[in-house]
Amino acid sequence: MTVPEIPAGTRVSLRPGEWASHMGQLGTIYMDVRVVKVGDMEGVPGWVWLLVHMPECHWESVACAREWCVKVAVWIPALYDAVNR
Ligand SMILES: [Zn+2]
Repeated sequence: MTVPEIPAGTRVSLRPGEWASHMGQLGTIYMDVRVVKVGDMEGVPGWVWLLVHMPECHWESVACAREWCVKVAVWIPALYDAVNR
């Protein structure tokens, strides 16, 4: 499965069960993220890493200065859907 090209800054709305934490825990909540980078997940076909910021990262009170701050695993077919949501 090819890794989707997603421009940086794209907002992606993930549903429960479509994503997993970097610890492999399947997500149980809705999560809105802003994509920084998409990365290949070696050895896990059908899944990619998303390096993201949370929507509140650009708030003045948060002012997240890192390149990205959250890493989530996403099932590729769900990612295509999530981008078009
Ligand atoms: Zn951030």
